[in-house]
Amino acid sequence: MSEAITTVLDETRIFNPPQGHQGHIASMQEYRTLRQQFETDFDTTWRELAREHLSWREPFTRVLNSENAPFFRWFEDGKLNLSENCLDRHVEAGLGERTAIIWESEAGEVRRYSYNKLLSEVCRAANAMRELGVESGDRVIIYMPMIVEAAIAMLACTRIGAVHSVVFGAFSPLALRDRIEDAGAKLVITADGGGRRGGVHALKPNVDEALSEGCRSVAHVLVVRHAGNEVEWSQGRDINWHDALNVQPDHCEPLAVESEHPLFILYTSGSTGKPKGILHSTAGYLLWARVTMRWSFDFRPETDIFWCTADVGWITGHTYSVYGPLANGGTTLMYEGVPTYPDPGRLWKICADHGVTIFYTAPTAIRALNKAGDEWPNKHDLSSLRVLGTVGEPINPEAWMWYHDVIGKGRCPIVDTWWQTETGGHMLAPLPFATPTKPGSATFPLPGIDADIVDEAGLPITEGGGLLIIRKPWPSMLRGVWGDDQRYIDTYWKEFDGRYYFAGDGARRDEDGYFWVMGRVDDVLNVSGHRLGTMELESALVSHEAVAEAAVVGRPDAIKGEAICAFVVLKCEPDDSLVEELRAHVSKEIGAIAKPDDIRFADSLPKTRSGKIMRRLLRDIAAGREITSDISTLEDQSVVQKIQQDRP
Ligand code: ATP
Ligand code: MG
Repeated sequence: MSEAITTVLDETRIFNPPQGHQGHIASMQEYRTLRQQFETDFDTTWRELAREHLSWREPFTRVLNSENAPFFRWFEDGKLNLSENCLDRHVEAGLGERTAIIWESEAGEVRRYSYNKLLSEVCRAANAMRELGVESGDRVIIYMPMIVEAAIAMLACTRIGAVHSVVFGAFSPLALRDRIEDAGAKLVITADGGGRRGGVHALKPNVDEALSEGCRSVAHVLVVRHAGNEVEWSQGRDINWHDALNVQPDHCEPLAVESEHPLFILYTSGSTGKPKGILHSTAGYLLWARVTMRWSFDFRPETDIFWCTADVGWITGHTYSVYGPLANGGTTLMYEGVPTYPDPGRLWKICADHGVTIFYTAPTAIRALNKAGDEWPNKHDLSSLRVLGTVGEPINPEAWMWYHDVIGKGRCPIVDTWWQTETGGHMLAPLPFATPTKPGSATFPLPGIDADIVDEAGLPITEGGGLLIIRKPWPSMLRGVWGDDQRYIDTYWKEFDGRYYFAGDGARRDEDGYFWVMGRVDDVLNVSGHRLGTMELESALVSHEAVAEAAVVGRPDAIKGEAICAFVVLKCEPDDSLVEELRAHVSKEIGAIAKPDDIRFADSLPKTRSGKIMRRLLRDIAAGREITSDISTLEDQSVVQKIQQDRP
């Protein structure tokens, strides 16, 4: 399906880690030693890590069971409870008064939950769910704004062995219904509404509409009163969250479940097609959430204030807003509102107000905030920041540089983390106080992660472009696609006959061995026999001072195979000379082969609700085809119509 991908961009800047602080992994030497340990003593190294970092009810003896590969089982004869690992063990260690969650609303209201308070709320919620008939293994849909109750609901599920499936609050009733039916959920937990752009985004009416057809499995809807909007009430079915919790004791014995007990189902972003319902299980996922917090972010639970801006409706919100920080007994921040409300300085104000030390966001946000101008971050004291993370898409070197210089003031290491809903936690990432970084590269695989770049035949590529794969299983890997074993096998294991996990992304390795994720294999362009990744072409465009964001796709061309079609969002008004100037700029940056044939200006690009560019739609638009693929996760349907209207 794919020959080697041609490398075009030549990024040579390199940044050494800051001096004077010893990270959890302190040097490249230590990193290499640890990697070597996983290589030579795979079972023992994972065994020790799992014993050290998790609190077990029943210890495991077997590390990995590959008998039924690719349905791998980790630590299978052990038992534990996830909420106990995230709450009780910290309270028992005397940390009950430490702040677990800081929550801020769009209007500026702040609430703090200590570990003591969070534990008692989780217990009440778990008791209430049990009283509503939820048992171990039952599925619970969580459709909520970014409020603490969302995290409480997730943790309460884990306390009694229920399997949660969080559905992002901006999804439509139809998308919600699909997910409720797919999961066969017994309970839906929602809120009346959430705060958004100074107004209210209603949620409960969407649940009512979703449940108006099908959804026979749902017995009850638990409703948090939050935004105060009026909602209809279905007697017998709908239960007020606060009333239900108030009558419950604040103690609930955590259920010890097997390591492989299903933990949650979560849908992918739908960038490349219909979303996949990814299934994760308990122990392996939790282990990697805890360990990657330390390795990739150098998380210090005693002193750090960690803020991941992702909504809990996405894997990043699961692993790094909730489970990772809490598994470590640290403090995590949740913000309910849009990043640019009331002005584009809002995120920076929150960082300054709460003394955020580690900040984790997505390239889409970085590009948007860069476009808004440096005056916004410059208004706020960002000196508490010490590590800056990014995830979700390849980050263009110029956006990386802005993050590094303007937000981090050159002090903070940039941690570009490559991973997926399927991987549960980080796979490629620099170690902030050990790895020299290069703008646009996620650097190297974390210890224990046997990631590589290979050609079609599965042979490693020492330098140049190829396919990103993971060779050995890892604890937080997906356990399947919910209800569709065949799709699991076909999507991830077929490409290399079951030998490797195939991620679906293209990557190149440079002469120093650094990994550069170049975009989706589905999006690779074939121009005159050269296979070009989207990341490098788009990065060349973004490196022009007038460009805020760009998406590049191929359009069928009789001579070249594919012509390069670029959709460009500008920082300024377009003028007549800009098209030629941008073509010349790309040609100068990466060579004539990459010179775009078409450049089309747009106000915005079609994105998934998790903020990723949906190039498959642009491909249809560029080719003048009708859009027939799944657009259920498209953020703003009008963007597509607008781009279609202003044809060149
Ligand atoms: P779908 O699988 O439904 O098409 P999706 O792949 O966008 O959607 P996610 O699991 O949210 O769903 O995203 C994972 C993908 O995001 C990765 O496969 C990769 O393409 C991209 N990605 C995430 N982090 C990075 C990163 N740091 N650098 C480059 N790409 C990244
Ligand atoms: Mg994917």
